[in-house]
Amino acid sequence: STMERSASRQSRKKVVAVVGGGLVGALNACFFAKRGFDVELFESREDIRRAKIVKGRSINLALSHRGRQALKHVGLEEKIVAQGIPMHARMIHSLDGKQSPIPYGRKGQYILSVDRANLNKELLTAAETYPNTKMNFDHKLQDWNAETGLMTFVRLDGSKEQVKADLIVGCDGAFSAVRKQFLRRSRFDYSQTYIPHGYMELTMPPINGEFAMKPNYLHIWPRNTFMMIALPNLDKTFTCTLFMPFEDFEKITTGDEVIEFFQKYFPDTIPLIGADTLQRDYFRLPAQAMVSVKCNPYHIGDTCVLMGDAAHAVVPFYGQGMNAGFEDCIVFDEIMDQFNEDFRAVLPEYTRVRVPDDHAIADLAMYNYIEMRAHVNSKWFIFRKYVDNI
Ligand code: FAD
Repeated sequence: STMERSASRQSRKKVVAVVGGGLVGALNACFFAKRGFDVELFESREDIRRAKIVKGRSINLALSHRGRQALKHVGLEEKIVAQGIPMHARMIHSLDGKQSPIPYGRKGQYILSVDRANLNKELLTAAETYPNTKMNFDHKLQDWNAETGLMTFVRLDGSKEQVKADLIVGCDGAFSAVRKQFLRRSRFDYSQTYIPHGYMELTMPPINGEFAMKPNYLHIWPRNTFMMIALPNLDKTFTCTLFMPFEDFEKITTGDEVIEFFQKYFPDTIPLIGADTLQRDYFRLPAQAMVSVKCNPYHIGDTCVLMGDAAHAVVPFYGQGMNAGFEDCIVFDEIMDQFNEDFRAVLPEYTRVRVPDDHAIADLAMYNYIEMRAHVNSKWFIFRKYVDNI
């Protein structure tokens, strides 16, 4: 099939291989397709639109202005916004059960709670509607050659496929396989940091067919070194995310200890989640790790560029990981206009303008993580209300 592909390409436009069909990869495929490139998207998973269970990083996430701007560029803003739930304010839950709203901005301003799997599916479907886009699922990038641009993919059945592209766009997430080649090169800066906290997701079901709490808020239970947040879903559930040091997660080993812990820190949530559910779901999956990745440059020559978490995984305390990744797509697109789609000029310029901004987001997210552990009263949230997303 390698032969077949290079043959059919000769008469066409340049081939752009987008590696990773997650949120940023699927959106990016739309951006490149819109420009008329021959786009090939390679995703290691099966097509999530046909899968029964979709594994992802979080069940829902907050979409904000940056992200919406990028969706707008490819005509998807309205559709995605219609499937999101506006959150006009944070709702701070104090220990005694008191709830205090802190608006995100002026009246009428809000961020949106969106379902990750659904958003990903919509983006894949949008990418697929371009006739010049080919989707390759069950294609896991194993390795690629920075000199020749030749990529090797492995399939579930163990077979291998080699494909060449004019431009490789690495959107394969925090543990990017595309990035591995960057690491072998001189003068590539790279750092990764795991934070001591993990996260666990718990579902708060509807009560009598209605949301168990006020839906148009991002609910927050700030508790010094712990924090829980809850975002609403279209099915009237809330996804609660508990952030806590791994060592504290590990201290809780029995159902009774779970209830004791929630009784002490999140008493108002016990009747809403349900004591039995809580005891069961706490042990369903282990707490997940969070990593921050920074690197520079984001490109190799005129053949490869990193975007999204592959370029900058950030800790989620600023609610901007996906949004920043979506913004990468717009920034790249604007530079493509500026330099007439000449990759030799576009790629270095993208690194030049984008690295400082993405590093700033990573720093702000880490700063917010550290701040949250130190100051966790509503005054602090009021102080931060104009600058962050959580
Ligand atoms: P991913 O979503 O990780 O997608 C990468 C894709 O590449 C996947 O589909 C994967 O299967 C595929 N892939 C991986 N390796 C290969 C390979 N070798 N070959 C082929 N394909 C491969 N961001 C926000 O903006 N707002 C939020 O509220 C928010 N909340 C979050 C909450 C949590 C708990 C976490 C962990 C993150 C949160 N984020 C949030 C961050 C957000 O999840 C990421 O920034 C976003 O998923 C990045 O998208 P991506 O496409 O770059 O990477």
